[in-house]
Amino acid sequence: MSSNGENCNGVDINSQNGTNGTNKDNQITFDVHFATRALHAGQDPSQWTSRAVVPPISMSTTFAQYSPGNFSGFDYGRSGNPTRKCLEEAIASLEEAQYALCFASGLSAQLNVTHLLSAGDHILCFDDVYGGTNRYFRTVAARLGLEISFADARDPQNVLKALKPNTRLVWMETPTNPTMKLVDIKAVAAIVKREAPEAIYVVDNTFMSSYFQQPLSLGADIAMHSLTKYMNGHADVVMGAIATNSKDIYDKLKYLQNSLGAVPSPFDCFLVNRGLKTLAVRMDKHQENGLAVARFLESHPMVKKVIHPGLKSHPQHELALRQCSGFSGMVSAYIEGDGETASVFIKNLKLFILAESLGSVESLIEIPALMTHQSLPKETREMLGISDTLIRLSVGIEATEDLLSDLSQALNIAKEFYDRKVSLK
Ligand SMILES: *Cc1c(COP(=O)(O)O)cnc(C)c1O
Repeated sequence: MSSNGENCNGVDINSQNGTNGTNKDNQITFDVHFATRALHAGQDPSQWTSRAVVPPISMSTTFAQYSPGNFSGFDYGRSGNPTRKCLEEAIASLEEAQYALCFASGLSAQLNVTHLLSAGDHILCFDDVYGGTNRYFRTVAARLGLEISFADARDPQNVLKALKPNTRLVWMETPTNPTMKLVDIKAVAAIVKREAPEAIYVVDNTFMSSYFQQPLSLGADIAMHSLTKYMNGHADVVMGAIATNSKDIYDKLKYLQNSLGAVPSPFDCFLVNRGLKTLAVRMDKHQENGLAVARFLESHPMVKKVIHPGLKSHPQHELALRQCSGFSGMVSAYIEGDGETASVFIKNLKLFILAESLGSVESLIEIPALMTHQSLPKETREMLGISDTLIRLSVGIEATEDLLSDLSQALNIAKEFYDRKVSLK
């Protein structure tokens, strides 16, 4: 399997996307791999008088000016912050983008992007997106005079049919959560460029991270992340980001970042910056464990069906191989039996923690219908196949054998429970 670790590109890891000029005395002039950029982009020690190897956490909310209106590039902590700037440069480099901006959460990144629109504009969204994304568009943006509709974007023709003359935002997510549906990023880009050239095309890249999928290279205008998940990877920060190659979009979003004020804290920026340094090695292990768990579950009699884009049984497996360079640790599966059996299984796990969220180093498990996707209308959940026997695993980086042993013992208990229940009927 190929991985981004093998790909080189010509991105200057020291490229500037911020406002302040810095003296850099060790410009890296040759092409470097993803794993190297994850460590060095935006981190040049010569930008600090102390020459700190790890970017300092700049807590100061205000910066001394040389003379009135003449300043270092930083004047006020909402408008710009040195620690945030390092992180934004790192993310731009990992998405092979000219620009990146960070926000207080993934949803606030979405909020900022939506503020590029005006009342009367139409948003076209994949019908199977993150629950909070769906909720924001449906119940909040809709109240502000934005028109919103959803389409099953697994078939790009459905996107074409759903475009309107006033469509200004097309929002995709791939693979989706929790049913792992894929969107052909390139095919949708071609349709949007041709039929709705004024629309901004966003791909939520949270599930794959920059390591396994590069939406901008496939034609998206914006790659969006909940950094809360794989990018930070340690379940200790809520943060979001966007990356783009459009100066126009960047300038407008930078204005909004300051105007709306949903900015991350310098300490959180430090943590995500640190998390990114191990993104490549973490993702390789998430992929290995995710595939091992998917194959194990697929072979188990207590599992009805496993959904993982890396399995041949996935209906869009070919597309996954074409547009992603690997797979994360996300696995979904339908448990044999009923919702109660699924709960017995989950409650008896020792290593997988029953919790929402995903993408952290420790393994998590949940029942979307009762947890992350509870906010969706029941009909939508049924339409998407989010039943109470559907479980979602975010497979961490523990020893593979330990995770399989844990799943095995809990499935055996669930089997006993279900067999007894059936025999009593
Ligand atoms: C978590 C998540 C979001 C929202 O991000 P927050 O950081 O929780 O605001 C958006 N999209 C996807 C795919 C997510 O998993």
